[in-house]
Amino acid sequence: MTQRIGIMGGTFDPIHNGHLVAGSEVRAKYDLDQVIFVPTKNSQPRFKNDVSPIAGEHRYLMTVIACASNPDFQVSRVDIDRPGDEYTYTIDTLRSFRETYPDAELFFITGADILVDFETWKDFNQLFDYAKFVLVTRPGANIDWEHLATLPSEIEVLEIPALAISSTDVRRRVQIGLPIWYLVPDGIVQYISKNHLYTD
Ligand code: NAP
Repeated sequence: MTQRIGIMGGTFDPIHNGHLVAGSEVRAKYDLDQVIFVPTKNSQPRFKNDVSPIAGEHRYLMTVIACASNPDFQVSRVDIDRPGDEYTYTIDTLRSFRETYPDAELFFITGADILVDFETWKDFNQLFDYAKFVLVTRPGANIDWEHLATLPSEIEVLEIPALAISSTDVRRRVQIGLPIWYLVPDGIVQYISKNHLYTD
């Protein structure tokens, strides 16, 4: 049987329960054998000013803590450890996974916000030789369906109600002293507090 592997790409700054529910929902809907979370090398999302300076190692460790209790979830360092390049390009992520899993069917999962500039991604047309794309979206998000219809058919959009939680809001709450219990796993509440993250 061909293995079906979900590759969950994101900054995870920090990982929250919306990401975990999304991974679980996509795994069930597409009958995936496992979902591998892949934190990006850098915390700076391209083309955005809303950044936090949390080192990749903190984002990676929080992702490991959050995924630890789910036997269907794994975490990969493939992008965090990628030498040289300042940013993470999904084509490189997919090539790495293709090398490790030459016969598997790959599903790249990430936030539907990427649709805004998806066609500008490095080697855009080749991305679909490697994987199907499952773009998860929050309730009320504005999806440009006409634009989506012009893109390759290997892209699907799935609404995840739990994605009402966002990393931006978690960071903001920590910054102003509001609780983040139940928005992120308990271990992440403790990790953030212990390491004084997001307070500057
Ligand atoms: P981001 O800045 O962290 O996230 C942008 C938006 O999408 C945020 O609203 C975010 O919500 C949401 N999101 C991101 N990842 C998600 C996930 N796995 N599940 C649910 N929602 C998610 O991330 P990004 O910079 O857009 O990158 C996302 C992925 O696309 C990464 O794997 C990145 O390497 C890849 N990417 C590749 C290229 C390229 O190849 N040229 C360009 C851009 C992005 P939260 O803040 O709540 O997570």
